[in-house]
Amino acid sequence: MRVVLLGPPGSGKGTQAEKLGNRLNLFHISTGDIIREAVNKRTSVGEQIKDFLNRGELVPDSVVLKLLMGIIKKNEEFILDGFPRNLQQAKQLDAVLGEENKELDLVINLKIDEGAILHRLNGRLTCSQCGKVYHIDNLPSGKRCELCGASLYQRKDDNIDIIKRRINVYKESIFPLIEYYRKKGILHYIQGEMSPEKVFRGIMTLIEKRKNEVMEETWLRKN
Ligand SMILES: [Zn+2]
Repeated sequence: MRVVLLGPPGSGKGTQAEKLGNRLNLFHISTGDIIREAVNKRTSVGEQIKDFLNRGELVPDSVVLKLLMGIIKKNEEFILDGFPRNLQQAKQLDAVLGEENKELDLVINLKIDEGAILHRLNGRLTCSQCGKVYHIDNLPSGKRCELCGASLYQRKDDNIDIIKRRINVYKESIFPLIEYYRKKGILHYIQGEMSPEKVFRGIMTLIEKRKNEVMEETWLRKN
């Protein structure tokens, strides 16, 4: 299965994609992780990316593509999170897959209302050591990381102005993308404000259903 998970910042798509990758044995391609790794390693691409992130802007297509395409080609099946973010990237992704006679099986859009996003992200605290994310409404005792005991901090891009800017950038670029996948008939919605367990079950149901369809289509084509 080749799945794309869409959703605004704060929709929980990263957490979901990771869980799905483990459960379904799909390679989880997290654009955020790949970008952060480049930034932490201070590669030249990483340094460029850092400037964009600090301003709350999206990293340009060409830069993200350079980082991602090799990984996408190497993995037969995957779940993509954080890419594509706009129509152009979606077309580029299809072109890369098309070169190898592959296509996306499913696109899942996590819907979440703007107020909920602001609440989730503005209250978010991150462990300074291991990166685990907490919310101010639900902190571990002692207000330190429950995994490694390190202190928690608010990420630079988790403040209200930058979050609002990120939401606006997201909204502008997502509409044509959604339209593109809807016309292809592979777009599905899940309500992202439900509990993470419910969201996960909803996504699993969609994936299982699509998996059966793909198996059926492959079988029919062979006969
Ligand atoms: Zn920690």
